Amino acid sequence: MRLILLGPPGAGKGTQAVNIVKKYSIPHISTGDMFRKNIKEGTDLGIKAKEYMDKGLLVPDDLVVAIVKDRLTEKDCQKGFLLDGFPRTVNQADALDAELTSLDYELDYVINIDVSKEELVDRAVGRRVCKDCGATYHVKFNPSKVEKICDVCGGELIQRKDDTVETVTKRIEVYLEQTQPLIDYYGKKEILINIDGKQDIDKVFQDIVIALGRE
Ligand code: ADP
Ligand code: ADP
Ligand code: ZN
Repeated sequence: MRLILLGPPGAGKGTQAVNIVKKYSIPHISTGDMFRKNIKEGTDLGIKAKEYMDKGLLVPDDLVVAIVKDRLTEKDCQKGFLLDGFPRTVNQADALDAELTSLDYELDYVINIDVSKEELVDRAVGRRVCKDCGATYHVKFNPSKVEKICDVCGGELIQRKDDTVETVTKRIEVYLEQTQPLIDYYGKKEILINIDGKQDIDKVFQDIVIALGRE
């Protein structure tokens, strides 16, 4: 299965990705996670990306496309993949198309998770992530069993630097302007699946599985 997860910041892409990759045994390719890893390790790419991420802006297309291209040529992607948070611009989508053609891969579906703007801010601002394993929680909607401690690995839960009201609002603006056009882009290719992301986490996953199975 070759999939893309599309949706505004805070829609629940990362949360659903964990379940999807487990069910379909495919690698999870999150560009946001890749950048955060590079920032943690202090690489050149991390230093460049951080400048944009902290402001809620998109990292330039050439940097993003390069890391995704590299990742897609790895062997584990032969069994399929889930792209989470990529593409985010029409330019990135065109670059992905070209790369997939050259690898002789075809996309199966693009899953678009739809959530209202007000809800997005609440979700992103209440998001907490494990500093060690990256597991995602929400202070209200999906709390860890013990406050500030990861259920999976016991690591400390922290708030992402870009999950403030101001930065999230900016990221939503950027999404509407630069990423939302991809809904039409993939709609025209007739591989778009729209999912109501306002429901609880399990119900959203159930709808995704039904949609993938049915079509
Ligand atoms: P994205 O990857 O799209 O930015 P996340 O998966 O990190 O989104 O989810 C954003 C926040 O919202 C997290 O704190 C997560 O626990 C919470 N969340 C995810 N899905 C739901 C849902 N269906 N209902 C309520 N909260 C959710
Ligand atoms: P969210 O789903 O909450 O927006 P991500 O973890 O997917 O968060 O992305 C965090 C930040 O990383 C984005 O705001 C952006 O700066 C950068 N980023 C991630 N993916 C891309 C991409 N495909 N193109 C440009 N920038 C990206
Ligand atoms: Zn953890």
